[in-house]
Amino acid sequence: MALVNEHYLKLKAGYLFPEITRRVQAFTDANPEVEIIRLGIGDVTQSLPPAVIDSLHQAVSEMGKPETFRGYGPEQGYQFLIDLILANDYEARSVRLDSDEVFVSDGSKCDSGNIQEIFAVDNIIAVADPAYPVYVDTNVMAGRTGEADAQGRYHGLYYMPCTEANDFLPELPDRKVDIIYLCFPNNPTGVVANPQVLQAWVDYALENQAIILFDGAYEAYITEEHIPHSIYEIPGAKECAIEFRSFSKTAGFTGTRCAYTVVPKGLVARTASGEPVSINQLWNRRHTTKFNGVSYPVQVAAAAVYSDEGKNQVRELIRYYMENARIIRKTLTSAGFAVYGGVNAPYIWMKTSDGMSSWEFFDQLLAEAHVVGTPGSGFGPSGEGYFRLSAFGNRENTEEAVARIRNKISP
Ligand SMILES: *Cc1c(COP(=O)(O)O)cnc(C)c1O
Repeated sequence: MALVNEHYLKLKAGYLFPEITRRVQAFTDANPEVEIIRLGIGDVTQSLPPAVIDSLHQAVSEMGKPETFRGYGPEQGYQFLIDLILANDYEARSVRLDSDEVFVSDGSKCDSGNIQEIFAVDNIIAVADPAYPVYVDTNVMAGRTGEADAQGRYHGLYYMPCTEANDFLPELPDRKVDIIYLCFPNNPTGVVANPQVLQAWVDYALENQAIILFDGAYEAYITEEHIPHSIYEIPGAKECAIEFRSFSKTAGFTGTRCAYTVVPKGLVARTASGEPVSINQLWNRRHTTKFNGVSYPVQVAAAAVYSDEGKNQVRELIRYYMENARIIRKTLTSAGFAVYGGVNAPYIWMKTSDGMSSWEFFDQLLAEAHVVGTPGSGFGPSGEGYFRLSAFGNRENTEEAVARIRNKISP
């Protein structure tokens, strides 16, 4: 008799985005003439930069000729891409890493979800609340938690509430935790961490032999000079942190799929009897056993992101989205809403109108402004009373959406 992994049954039903789809569908079925604007899901809308497309075409052609055809590549990624990553994303910011500390993959969702399997089930896991749902759900699936309570807090996880009171920055745990998920610039709140904040986390991790899982998917959206782009800009981080980076939000690769994870060789965790084990070696073992590499054309396309042309085009894309963010921020602030994020991140985190729940606000926005956003409570219990708007729309829709909110919804 086949038995299921019952930990999966603890996952909350009605995952956020299916529930949004259901409610939007119900509304449009009842109001087919209404034009809805979606500022909900965190997906890009602008097409791939021309430099990326050119390289992709060339690489596809190479695959069609016997002399240049390629089969399996290195599971960890082609050297040409890793060299560009090291030079542009790290050496340019005075961070020295070795080639075998970089693992190219098909996404940061997969990597940030899979990384937990090289760690023991009895580690204490700390997650920001609200957070990207992948961090919590993958630990639930792995059996690191009990059931969720009425607010959706899983027993056994250490939650770090991020609210107005602490400027949406997770506070250092008041007890010993073993694995800490951090995401800056943050999805969903849009806040960033300055060097002092990150240094405090690195110090905590070193002191407690904990490991930080640092999600830098939105690094390219940082506009303020003093904000670190990599956790490795912080002294000591190479001894305690794994970093996830993705081409998805940087260069519009959400449907093309390329990312990478940095696992420094200085990183160790221990066996129950106290023997040190290289995390880099464990991840290499996991990656080469369960993953067969990103396709050659996609890695060539990712490499084009680092060409002069590619860099300019990517900068332009990001400028476009960040102008949307500025418009959303400015319009809603002047309308009297409390609005956060949107300066170093493509997300705006707003407070709902006077004490409304996130879903009540969702329904009101849908019914009266015909705008779809994301209820903050979908990212964790402390997201209740907040709402996420994304700057990934096109300009016209973004301007129209915030004008509707300003005209129809009172703060
Ligand atoms: C979009 C996103 C990612 C990137 O995921 P990919 O699988 O690389 O597309 C990672 N982390 C967060 C928090 C995100 O919002």
